[in-house]
Amino acid sequence: MSDLGQLIGEVHAELSVRLGEGQVANYIPELAKVPVERFGIAVATVGGEVFTAGDALEPFSIQSISKLFTLTLALGKVGDGLWSRVGREPSGNRFNSIVQLEYEQGRPRNPFVNAGAIAVTDLILAGYRPKEAIGDIVRFVRFLAGDEAIVIDADVARSERDTGFRNFALAQFMRSFNVITHPADEVLGVYFHHCAIAMNCAQLARAALFLAAKGQNPVTGHSVVSAARARRINSLMMMCGHYDGSGDFAFRVGLPGKSGVGGGIVAVVPGVCTVAVWSPGLDANGNSLIGTAALELLAQRANWSVFE
Ligand code: GLU
Repeated sequence: MSDLGQLIGEVHAELSVRLGEGQVANYIPELAKVPVERFGIAVATVGGEVFTAGDALEPFSIQSISKLFTLTLALGKVGDGLWSRVGREPSGNRFNSIVQLEYEQGRPRNPFVNAGAIAVTDLILAGYRPKEAIGDIVRFVRFLAGDEAIVIDADVARSERDTGFRNFALAQFMRSFNVITHPADEVLGVYFHHCAIAMNCAQLARAALFLAAKGQNPVTGHSVVSAARARRINSLMMMCGHYDGSGDFAFRVGLPGKSGVGGGIVAVVPGVCTVAVWSPGLDANGNSLIGTAALELLAQRANWSVFE
């Protein structure tokens, strides 16, 4: 086993004693069923190697990590025109905050808070039926990961639809400002389904690898985005990828990353690798508690940081 494989094994073992810390997301009933003790780490290198530790091959709900993929897809469809609908500033608010939208005339702060991701989904829906748009997103994620086995967990999607009152409020509010242009239930139908994509850490690390390699997937050779766009997506992850905990993540880990309330985080070490971690116990900002600690330890020991 290489040094990297050994390193993630050590980090996994050291943090396993803390499993049980944090709260599993319970506002989506289906997510509340996931055992808090799960913990996986996967590293995918730009050289094509993948190293795993713990529950790295068990699928989980990627939730907001999907916003990284929908942003990439939407930028490919509409280009930088996307920024006339959605901002690119850290929110300093909770992921599902409504108050900021009212102050800012329905224009979401960034594509990673719920409101921003819903507006991005609206762009992807243009010209499609909701089912086609969902198919498009899943195909894109499979293409990025080079893995046809990736699917949506329909129970999670249904569970979120049944309880997603706040997301409906956000969508209706944005519709009143024409920030979204399709009926709220259609946009949210697509949004809930992409949040419910299930992936394991290894698949997730592979899917994000283009962000570590100037926009090109080094394994499949597919060009996903330009190098300039990959850099910008990374900078958005750094500034906004962890909601109101983004500053703390940048301080502790020093890498661009995107988290989801399913307990996953994917982080990018430009030119080197991607790391995906999963542990469902969340901190007060909705970010994986043990997952963040694992990335902090790993970055420290491997001497990874975009700040040198
Ligand atoms: N589907 C979740 C929601 O809209 C995503 C939140 C997250 O992962 O942070 O509430």
